[in-house]
Amino acid sequence: MNFKNKTVIVTGASRGIGRAIALRFGSLGANVVVNYSRNKEYADDVVQTIDSTGKRAVSILADVTSSSEVAQMIDLTLDEFGSIDILVNNAGITKDTLLLRMKESDWDSVIDTNLKGVFNCTKAVTRSMMRARKGSIINISSVIGLMGNAGQSNYAAAKAGIIGFSKSIARELAPRGIRVNVVAPGFIQTDMTKVLNESIKGEILDQIPLNRFGMPDDVARMVAFLASDMSSYITGQVINVDGGMMI
Ligand code: NAP
Repeated sequence: MNFKNKTVIVTGASRGIGRAIALRFGSLGANVVVNYSRNKEYADDVVQTIDSTGKRAVSILADVTSSSEVAQMIDLTLDEFGSIDILVNNAGITKDTLLLRMKESDWDSVIDTNLKGVFNCTKAVTRSMMRARKGSIINISSVIGLMGNAGQSNYAAAKAGIIGFSKSIARELAPRGIRVNVVAPGFIQTDMTKVLNESIKGEILDQIPLNRFGMPDDVARMVAFLASDMSSYITGQVINVDGGMMI
């Protein structure tokens, strides 16, 4: 796989899975936009790591819930690199609690970031990809969007929503040469899962046939495959990267 002269935007690339995706694309020669919403220091660290290998990367602050900030990010990317070949909608948050305790704000913020954020970024890149008549969009869902989870109804709704959205736009954009796929990770070791207590982690591990938690680069390698020409006949699919959790 070689992404020389290709530009990728990775949302939520300052930490965790997004960071690994940005570094993976950097190592494969792409120009990388490292998007973040709060942690500039971490985003700049990702940029420096990519720069130090002689590749080009920039960090861009944009809250994916804001269509105007996303539009600015797209304009800045086009000014800097001239095209957008790949979009990875990775930014996401959790606000876990049982339904009866869930505040409206817990619901709204998770849906806004995890689902509306995907809509905002996808809509904003589509025009330039349609003009180029090529592009690959990869949306990060979750096994929770497929199987549900007590205490995560807001998150599961957003992640299931990403799947329906992606299948619809895969159909809309296929005639324009743009592919859209979804990656559904299982349990991946990041800040998001660090907060879970040891007994819950043990219960989850029992459900993973490969008997280990995933690493961010396990997801990043699948994303790179879906962005590359090696997957040129694949669109509208959901690929689980979960150690066999969903078998
Ligand atoms: P993480 O370590 O908590 O990192 C989240 C990233 O999203 C950070 O870079 C954060 O930026 C960014 N972000 C949050 N809100 C944002 C916003 N409004 N606009 C732009 N960026 C925003 O999470 P992760 O575990 O890597 O998860 C990444 C994605 O994978 C998420 O969509 C998550 O739902 C999904 N996923 C994770 C797992 C898992 O087990 N970890 C499993 C399945 C799916 P700042 O640093 O600036 O805050």
